[in-house]
Parts: sequence; C-alpha cells; structure tokens
Amino acid sequence: MDLVIDGKWLYYPHSGKLITDGRIIVEGDRIVYSGQRKSPESVKQSGHEYYNYEKGLIIPGLVNAHTHIPMTLQRGISENKPLQTWLEYIWSIEPHLRPKDAYWGSMLGIAEMFASGTVGFNDQYFYSDQIAQAVHETGIKAVLAPSIFFTGNPESNTMEEAFNHAKSVHDKWNGDNNRLWISFGPHAPYTVGKDWLQTIADEARDRGTTIHTHLNETEYEVNESQKTHSLRPIEYMEKIGVLDTINSAAHCVHLSDGEYEILKKYNVNALHCPKSNAKIGTGVADTPRFLKEGINICLATDGQASNNKLDMFEEMSFEALIQKAFHKDSTVVTSTDVVKMTTSNASALFPQNSYSGTLLENTRADLIVLDLDSPATTPVIDPVSHLCYAIGRDNVVMTVVDGSIVYHEGKFMTLDIEKIKDEAQRVTDRLLETTKSE
Ligand SMILES: [Zn+2]
Repeated sequence: MDLVIDGKWLYYPHSGKLITDGRIIVEGDRIVYSGQRKSPESVKQSGHEYYNYEKGLIIPGLVNAHTHIPMTLQRGISENKPLQTWLEYIWSIEPHLRPKDAYWGSMLGIAEMFASGTVGFNDQYFYSDQIAQAVHETGIKAVLAPSIFFTGNPESNTMEEAFNHAKSVHDKWNGDNNRLWISFGPHAPYTVGKDWLQTIADEARDRGTTIHTHLNETEYEVNESQKTHSLRPIEYMEKIGVLDTINSAAHCVHLSDGEYEILKKYNVNALHCPKSNAKIGTGVADTPRFLKEGINICLATDGQASNNKLDMFEEMSFEALIQKAFHKDSTVVTSTDVVKMTTSNASALFPQNSYSGTLLENTRADLIVLDLDSPATTPVIDPVSHLCYAIGRDNVVMTVVDGSIVYHEGKFMTLDIEKIKDEAQRVTDRLLETTKSE
C-alpha cells in the first residue's frame, strides 16, 4: 500500500537539516517525495493511505549495528560478572539452545526492535538459519553473520562444521527479498586461529561478502594478544591479511594510536556498544577520537545478556552522556552525532542502496514516526536534542521498513506478539532448568 505521512517535523541526520510541516510519500519500497507539505486534498484523492501526526517527528528508521539476537532469551541471566566469567557462564547455557529456541528468541528481539523504531540489525550468532527465517517472516532488514567458532556452539563441534554451516546459510539466504544478507562471523582473534581467519577471509572475498567480528573489547584480550603474537589484536589482523574483508568490528574499546590508523586505512566500521561495555566493565570507547580520525562509528546494543534492552534511544542518550562524563567535556559528542551513528552512518553496514538512513527521495522507505504529544517531550524547543535526551521508545507510533508498516500504535502487523512472549518464556524456563540440573 502506498503511503502519505504528514508530521510536524522531518529530520535528515546526514545533513542535519530539519524542516517543519513535513510530508513523506512512499510508493512501493521507495520514498518518492520528502519535503514540505502540499495540499492535503490532492493526497486524499490519490488513493494513498494517509496518516497525519500533528506533533509527529519523522526520522529514518534506526539500525542496531551489533546484536546476538537470540540472546534476547537471556535478558538478565548473568549479572555483576566480569567479561571472562560472564562468557564462561553464557557458554555453559548456549549448548542447550535448540534451533526452534533461537527462532523464538529472534522473533522476540525483532518485536522489541519494531516497537522501538529499529528497522535493521547487524547480527553475529549461531542458528543464523533460524534467525533468517524470523527476518524473512517479519519483514525487518538484516545482515546476519553466522558465528564461526565452537566454544558453547550448539550447532557445530568443530571449526570445519561451523564454517560449512556458514557457507550453507549464505547459499540459502543471501539476498532474500532484497532485505537480508549473509556475511561471516569468526567470533574474535582470541577464539579463532590464524589459518581459519585466513580461510574465512578468502571465502568472504570469493563470495563478495564481508566479516563481522569482535576486536579490542577488553584490556585482558589486548594483553593476551601481545603475549601470544607480540601484536595488539588489530595489528595482528592486519599482519595476517584479513582486515580488507572486515566490514564490522564490534567494540574497539582499547586501541593504540596505530590501531586507529589501521582501522581508517581499511575502512572498517567500528560498532560501538556503550551500554554493554559499561555493564560488563570493559571501559569506554574513545568516540571523539573516532570522530576526529574520520572512522565510521555505528551504535549498537550488543546481546541482551549484557545490556538488557534493544533500545537505540537509550543507547543514544547513554552514549552522549558517558562521553561527556568520561572526557569531562560537554561538547565532545552531540545529539547530531549520536543520531547519525544509528541512522546514516549505518548505511555502510548494508549493501549499497539497501538502507540509506537519510529520508531522501528515491531511497528505500525505512522510516519511523515519533509522536511528541507526551508530557516527557513537551515543550519542543529542539527536536534533535529530544531525540537524544527526551524521546524514548514509548514515543514510537509507526515503524516502516521498505515501504511496509510493520508496527503501528502498539500493533504488530507481521507477528503474533502474545504467542512470541509465551514461547520465549517457556524456552528460557527450560534452559535455566536444564543448566541447573547438570
Ligand atoms: Zn558481541
């Protein structure tokens, strides 16, 4: 169905332009008009579905740049533990996860994302075949990187098996509905050896895809790399010749001067997870430095066992606040910066022309409407400041992916939320029971 959506404000994050009395016209999966409102009568007669939000702020749909989506089932499971202990606990639970469980965890995560204005995600996890099924059914946009390693892996017992599985997921799903793409996910340089990293990189080049991995998350990991390889993780990845294939590097918290240069040289996107890094106590990534160096940063929640939300509004707010506190400088990261990190910057994570994060005409129609007619968002002085500090996911009234409304005023169009909640609770109860009885 073609759409006309009127709102009080339209915001274009890539340019920082804000216009009032705005209108978006969507035909098929494209935005065909984006700008000031014209006569409402002409639109009503055109046969488009018409929506008007008197205090609506229309912005591009948000992207969550680093997730482990079935971990939504593990929300709140392992609190107040350092990363290595946390990982050991998670890796004791994950072998009990069954394929169908991962499907329900993904459906739950996608529901949470739709209701909080997220239209796309960049994932790395096991069971990507089941995650892909959930993406296919719900209409969200995603790049999925099947995890390639075997610690805690419920799907594969060897690297060989995990690698073959990733290739078969790529064969089956890459390009599905022009909304779903498959990359490869060697977990991290400390869990995947050199030969395998090189083999996976070769395969990614052959298939014209990329790699999504974790780099320089903790000081421990950096110290271990220096002990084992006499190199820091990003230096090591460059030396073994795989960085040209890495599109997505999650975390990048502890970097040397040289490592910033390497990321920039290879055009690697840094996936920044401020809340997860804070919660696990791994540190604060130096966002102002990334901005200064011109390295593309995208915001992300990470998995739900270390966040515990899939809420990009909270992530934006937290990012701006923690940077100001950490640097003792209120100018270092602005509202404009954080909104870009979760919209236009994220276009680099998807194949060209698949997601723009701009609201521009002739781009894919991925957008959300925020209703600012609420106590927490009144008065409106600066809608862009509100995006970072006052708007929450409760203000999301409409989520549109590729021209289809997937969420509208509390209703999900492409999923059965009551069934999903029931199944998710049932699966988590079983996982906890099974792990306890071991
Ligand atoms: Zn992660």
